[in-house]
Amino acid sequence: MKTVPTEPARDSQTCGYQLSTNGWDSRETYCGEPKAVGLCYCRPYYDWVAADTEDGTARMPPGNAIGTGNG
Ligand SMILES: [Zn+2]
Repeated sequence: MKTVPTEPARDSQTCGYQLSTNGWDSRETYCGEPKAVGLCYCRPYYDWVAADTEDGTARMPPGNAIGTGNG
């Protein structure tokens, strides 16, 4: 799993799902995988978020770009 140390732009094609902190240094990391086509996160994290909702669909954060597959 690719990660990045800073939050990717929401209109980018990078997933950017915020991962748990690194523990000892409490730095945040974000998912650096490309967004899945038609989704606002990569597939694993979209499924993770969606599994936690009532209707099984992850709500789209405002301003978030949708994966195009060209990212
Ligand atoms: Zn991701």
